[in-house]
Amino acid sequence: MKQYQTQKELQEYLQSTSKSIGFVPTMGALHEGHLSLIQTAKGQCELVVCSIFVNPTQFNDPSDFEKYPKTLEEDLQKLTEVGCDVVYFPEVQDIYPDGMDNLPSYDLGNLERVLEGKFRPGHFQGVCVVVDRLLQAVQPGYLIMGQKDYQQVAVVERLLALTSHNCKLIACPTVRENSGLAMSSRNMRLNEEQREKACAIFKGFESSTQEEYQQRLLDAGFDSIDYIACCDPNTLELKPWKAKPCVILIAAFIGGVRLIDNQIFA
Ligand code: AMP
Repeated sequence: MKQYQTQKELQEYLQSTSKSIGFVPTMGALHEGHLSLIQTAKGQCELVVCSIFVNPTQFNDPSDFEKYPKTLEEDLQKLTEVGCDVVYFPEVQDIYPDGMDNLPSYDLGNLERVLEGKFRPGHFQGVCVVVDRLLQAVQPGYLIMGQKDYQQVAVVERLLALTSHNCKLIACPTVRENSGLAMSSRNMRLNEEQREKACAIFKGFESSTQEEYQQRLLDAGFDSIDYIACCDPNTLELKPWKAKPCVILIAAFIGGVRLIDNQIFA
C-alpha cells in the first residue's frame, strides 16, 4: 500500500496511473464499517484511495475534536489487510495551507438548518470544504460513503451538484455490531456497560411512537437526546411517524459521547 502525507506526492503518484479511482474519505480509528466501504470501492474501481484526516473545521465542539480517537498504526495495518492501494494521511497544513479562516461557503439550503445542521452549527460547511479539497486532490470517479451519516450523504450529493467534480457518489449500508449498535469510531469512548446500553438506539427504531423511542433511550441510561425525527428520505422534511417512505434519524448522548443513527422505512 502506497502511503502519502502530502497532496504533492499523492498527486504525482495518481497522475502516473490511468486506473479508475474509488475514494473513501475517513477520520481514522477504522472499524468494519469503514472497511466495508473499501471493499465496495475495490469491487467498483481499479485503484482504491483512502484518506485519514480528522478535519478540525467540521467539529463544532472542541472537546469532541480533542477526544477523537487516533489509531494510525492499526488503521494502516487494517487498510493493508483489506487490500487498499493508497492511503493519504495529511497534516492540517496540507489541507489548509492558508489557514482555516476565510474558507469558502456552500449553499446547502435547508439541509444545513435541520437535524445535524441545527445541532452542529458549521459542521456541514466544514465537511464540504474538506471533501471538496480531497476530491480536488484525488479526482476519483467514485466517492464511497456510509449511509450511517445519512444527512452527510445528502450534503455531499448537493456539494457534487454545486461543484464540477466529475464523480459519482455511492452510499453503502450501515455496518452494525451483533447488538445492532451502528459501528462508529466514537464507540471506542464508551465503556462496556455503556456500549451494551447504546444498542437501545437500534432497538428503538421499532417504537410505535416518537415518545416511546425517547422513553426507551432514557430508560436505557442515555443522558440526553438532540433529536428523534421522522423525515422524507430525499428532502429531510418532517413527516408523521413512520409514514412510508421515510427515514428515522436520531442523535443522542450516552456517557458524554454523541451517537447518531438512522433507519429507512421504504
Ligand atoms: P468517519 O471516519 O466517521 O468520518 O466515517 C468515514 C466514512 O465511513 C463515512 O462515509 C461514514 O458514513 C462511513 N461509516 C462510518 N461508520 C459506518 C458504519 N457503521 N457502516 C458503514 N459506513 C460507516
